Amino acid sequence: MAKFLLFIAVLAVIYALLRASSRRSRPPPAARGPEAMTQCAHCGLHFPKAEAVSDAGHDYCNEDHRRLGVRS
Ligand SMILES: [Zn+2]
Repeated sequence: MAKFLLFIAVLAVIYALLRASSRRSRPPPAARGPEAMTQCAHCGLHFPKAEAVSDAGHDYCNEDHRRLGVRS
């Protein structure tokens, strides 16, 4: 009976080690970090850089504001 309990304990330890190692190999979900932000040169809205419409070194929040250009 003691041998059976020891066998179960060894299995539990191996299972825990396998789970821990598989969790460590997975990349953390927040690895990308904070998203880069930019500002629309026409209306001043802050929005993600990835959605920017760029023209002549300026970022715009949409195609209409790119056509209207930098607000003077
Ligand atoms: Zn805009």
